[in-house]
Amino acid sequence: MRCISKTLLFPDLCCFICMVVDSLRILMEMQADSVEPEKSDFLQPLDSEIQTWISKAFDMALEALENGEVPVGCLMVYNNEIIGKGRNEVNETKNATRHAEMVALDQVLDWCRFREKDPKEVCEQTVLYVTVEPCIMCAAALRLLHIPLVVYGCKNERFGGCGSVLDVSSDHIPHTGTSFKCIAGYKAEEAVEMLKTFYKQENPNAPKPKVRKDLISPPDGAVVIQVKRGPQDEESETIAPLS
Ligand SMILES: [Zn+2]
Repeated sequence: MRCISKTLLFPDLCCFICMVVDSLRILMEMQADSVEPEKSDFLQPLDSEIQTWISKAFDMALEALENGEVPVGCLMVYNNEIIGKGRNEVNETKNATRHAEMVALDQVLDWCRFREKDPKEVCEQTVLYVTVEPCIMCAAALRLLHIPLVVYGCKNERFGGCGSVLDVSSDHIPHTGTSFKCIAGYKAEEAVEMLKTFYKQENPNAPKPKVRKDLISPPDGAVVIQVKRGPQDEESETIAPLS
């Protein structure tokens, strides 16, 4: 099985996620012809409401960026009220499952418990606003909790569970909650820029890589430094011409 998340800081958990992904893929193939259960009616938010909520989700993503986390932020909105919000907490908790959505879903469940409300009834009327397409793990959690609508910014080409890698959001997967609708592309460029900013900077929580620096014939006076972090990973960076 090809490991899709080799960049995770936790190799054991990475393999576990790969196993879950593979199991989901097999289940989808087996159940492709099954009948999807009826979904409850849901009023779609107005564009102006979406703009308001997604902006607040971006505030959470910025907070993640400022705290050395992959900049993803989200809100869970029920009856025009924020009942959960989150940002990535993977590095600070050293727990690769603490994605923004999982943090927010925990808050939603606490909100329901405190008010003695049925989580299923609440989640069925709750919209998730998130800056990046939910990954496969989070999409599966959203299905299981019956979240009907997800509004997100940019696509998640590496781990996306709403069509980019797997279509956990809308595929026929019986006995795994209900499928959900996605509205993509809100402030997508801003989401991508934040991710680029994060990946350009040094990650202080990453394990020390084995670095090999080879000076290769410098074109036009520039110096190319080749950085190798492992057998599969090789990249080079061109540094400004030496004066
Ligand atoms: Zn996720």
